[in-house]
This record gives sequence, structure tokens and C-alpha cells, in this order.
Amino acid sequence: MLYIGSHVSFDKKDQLLKSTKEAISYGANTFMFYTGAPQNTLRYPISDEKTLEALMLMKKEGVAFDKVGVHAPYIINLANRDNLEFGIRFLTEELERCQELGIKYMILHPGSHVGHGVEEGIQSIIDGLNRVFLNYHGDVKILLETMAGKGTEIGRTFEELKEIMDGVTENERLGVCMDTCHMNDAGYDLTDFDSVLKEFDFILGINKIGCIHINDSKNERDSHKDRHENIGYGTLGFATLLKIIYHPSLDDIPKILETPYINREFAPYKEEIEMIRNQTYVDHWRDSIHS
Ligand code: FE
Ligand code: FE
Ligand code: ZN
Repeated sequence: MLYIGSHVSFDKKDQLLKSTKEAISYGANTFMFYTGAPQNTLRYPISDEKTLEALMLMKKEGVAFDKVGVHAPYIINLANRDNLEFGIRFLTEELERCQELGIKYMILHPGSHVGHGVEEGIQSIIDGLNRVFLNYHGDVKILLETMAGKGTEIGRTFEELKEIMDGVTENERLGVCMDTCHMNDAGYDLTDFDSVLKEFDFILGINKIGCIHINDSKNERDSHKDRHENIGYGTLGFATLLKIIYHPSLDDIPKILETPYINREFAPYKEEIEMIRNQTYVDHWRDSIHS
């Protein structure tokens, strides 16, 4: 079954109910959100009342709650040992918040080594994750995202993610979130997705994939840029992305759009989800700005 959605908002007042309503307005049957602004630590107590209302609405509208994920805030950087204590603390708190909401998985950028070098960065991530799993005993999984390799980002190759997994003691609590824009920018040739998937399976195991971010890319393969583009307007194109979305080996994996707003104002997700469901491209925004 196709589980398709986008990232949606979450606010202090209506919380998960707000996210759910937004997802439904796009015709989505799953979604992803941040528990607060991704660049700060300001968080609010979870309202069980709003969560329950959201769950009832999801059930009524056919949204698969077990496919809904949270994205960890960007300010967590486990690869930088100088800031590791903060990252461990905040990530633990975020996992507990997810647990309270009933969320099953949290997507995490492995981190940037900020000049310390890849090996030291990877070791710092391993230490961080080991300590997070000692602090937190719930069942929310962490999915490490495949990164574009912008700056000093770790997680650009499947091998780097594998190294992290191998170092984490309770690595059955880890999975991977593929991001199509990031994999393209990292150098993977997604026009031959079967080969990429085969390589992934050989290195990490296909059963590790917990989520896929579906984004077109503004840049050429191997550019290490990480700039998302609307579906069909980038270097990947509609046909390549459709092949990934409907790949038979990835049938039940949630697919999440993180494409840019149109003219920095309108969410493109209703139209993009419709195109994906109909498997037919429509040139909605030829003359618009995809920021
Ligand atoms: Fe991400
Ligand atoms: Fe992503
Ligand atoms: Zn990105």
C-alpha cells in the first residue's frame, strides 16, 4: 500500500490535531512533523486530549498513525563532541515526547564533524547514540538520514551509516531514512535505483529502511548541495521519483515530501500527492519560484 504525506506543522495549542488536519487537507495518509521549531529548544507539554482527538480523526480519515514520524531538531549534532552533552540530553527528551505522543520513529541527521574529521565525528555519534539508548528505554526508533554531504556532514555514504550502526550496541533500535535529494547530491545515481537499492541492501540491509523523503533536487548528482526542488522540476524528475515511490520492495515504507513552498507561500503537497497517486505529471508551477 502507498503511504504518502509531507512534513506538516505542529503548534502549542492544537498540537498533533493541527498536524493531522493539515495532512488530511493534502490528501495524505501519513505525515512527518517537528515537535517545535527545529532550530530552538522551546517545547510545550503534550496535551493528551489533543492527541486523542487527533487519533480519532486519523482513524476516521484513514491516516496510518504507525507510519507517522517526527524529525529531530537540527540543533542536535552528535558528531560534534564539543556539544555532545546537549545533544544527548535534548535527543533523549525528544524521544520521550515522541513516546508520549505514540510516535514510532524519529528521523535524525547523523551530524557534522565541523572540522574534527569523519572518523572522530562517527565515533562521537556512536558514543552519543549509545548514551541516548542507555537513557531512553522506550520503543521509538531512530532513523539515521542519508545526507547530501554538504560541508562536513556525515552520512553521505551507506558505508558511513553502516559504521555508525556497527558501533551502536543496541543497533536494532536504529534504522535509515533515505532522502532522494540527498542521495542524488551525495553522488548516487537514482536513475538506476535498482542498483542503488542493491548496494544499500548489501551494506545495510533493505529491512533497515524506515522512511523515504521524496524530494527533487535543484542540483546535479554529486554536487553536495542539499537544495530540495518540487517534484518534476529538478534534476531527478517525475519518472525517476515515481519509480522509487512505487518500488515493489518499498511498498509499505512511508514516503514523505519535503519540497519547497511555491513563491515561499503555498504548500505544494496537495498537488504533488495527487500527481503521485495518479502517476501523472501536471506542470502546476512552471513560472513560480520554488524557494
Ligand atoms: Fe532531514
Ligand atoms: Fe530529508
Ligand atoms: Zn535536505
